[in-house]
Amino acid sequence: KEAHYIYQAVYSGKISGNGAYTQKCQHFFQQKYGFSKALLTSSCTDALEMCGLLIDIKEGDEVILPSYTFVSTANAFMLRGAKLVFADCLASHPNLDTKQLVDLINPNTKAIVVVHYGGVACDMEPVLALAQQHQLYVIEDAAQAIDAYYQDQPLGSLGDLGTFSFHESKNIIAGEGGLLSINKPEFTQRAEIIWEKGTNRAAFWRGEVSKYEWLDIGSSYLPSEITAAFLYAQLENLDQIQQKRIQDWDLYYSLLSPLAPKIQLPIIPDYAQNNGHLFYIICTHREERKALIEFLKKNGILAVFHYLCLHQSPFFKDKHDGRSLPQAERFADCLLRLPMYYELKAEEIHLICQKIKAFYENRF
Ligand SMILES: *Cc1c(COP(=O)(O)O)cnc(C)c1O
Repeated sequence: KEAHYIYQAVYSGKISGNGAYTQKCQHFFQQKYGFSKALLTSSCTDALEMCGLLIDIKEGDEVILPSYTFVSTANAFMLRGAKLVFADCLASHPNLDTKQLVDLINPNTKAIVVVHYGGVACDMEPVLALAQQHQLYVIEDAAQAIDAYYQDQPLGSLGDLGTFSFHESKNIIAGEGGLLSINKPEFTQRAEIIWEKGTNRAAFWRGEVSKYEWLDIGSSYLPSEITAAFLYAQLENLDQIQQKRIQDWDLYYSLLSPLAPKIQLPIIPDYAQNNGHLFYIICTHREERKALIEFLKKNGILAVFHYLCLHQSPFFKDKHDGRSLPQAERFADCLLRLPMYYELKAEEIHLICQKIKAFYENRF
């Protein structure tokens, strides 16, 4: 229905933002996941930038975030002049090691940004407790975490703010697209103003004010109705898409289990519910991963590694405080993602796993 809804949006005569499809999508998220307000954005990157504006980051404020993440998690706060303090991963999972947070908090700390890696929840209880104790904002980068849960609570609904991505590499897609979830109602009015170039145009469209004016800083964060129309068709099929991905994930897991502990398989903690965003294995070292990537490539299978550590990046390495983050560095060196997309067939998963087994049989 994606093409059909785009056609409808075009023939309705309104394809700029905040129209009927945008409203439908936002309503869907508010209803299904209980966000107090949902605002569609052009990307998760935009939604993260809105978070930086909403929590009023100023020069000298510190923001704690994982090093093993996408650049957008960091850029959003760097753009506002924050000092970034990178945290390490758990040994068992690329998610943040919440035990290390307490040592990173100081009077300048303003926010903790968690990333739910692969759609698997971070352990939110200790994060929320620390945030409450030290009066910090919690922002969930839930880019990969649509329809994923922490102790039965939807991700993106636990922090003050949450951000999602509908980039075509994610579960639910719109080419490029994103969402800001607001769980503190006092943010809502200002968020709408920031979203609409710093004006109260959203209130004007609802007939609440007679003209719209410049009230605050902001930018153009809302997507066109063409994007929202595509997204709405995806949302109507959300359950089917999720079911298919989780089924594929489970098949990978069962076929590769016999290879453990030669390779490490993903761990889903008891408090988290899998959303089948990605399937990865963890190799023993970087050279082994490189050889496996080459071997799979020769067999027509594209498997790719994931993040490079931000604390070691060309842009940030001179700004980093020098702490080594050994788990993040290990995931950067050893984690390998296997093909995972809606059109993937079960027989292809069988073939991929057969090849991975062949690789390890020849190696040991
Ligand atoms: C994909 C992703 C983003 C960026 O999303 P865009 O919609 O492409 O801006 C940010 N953070 C994480 C963790 C992601 O996986």
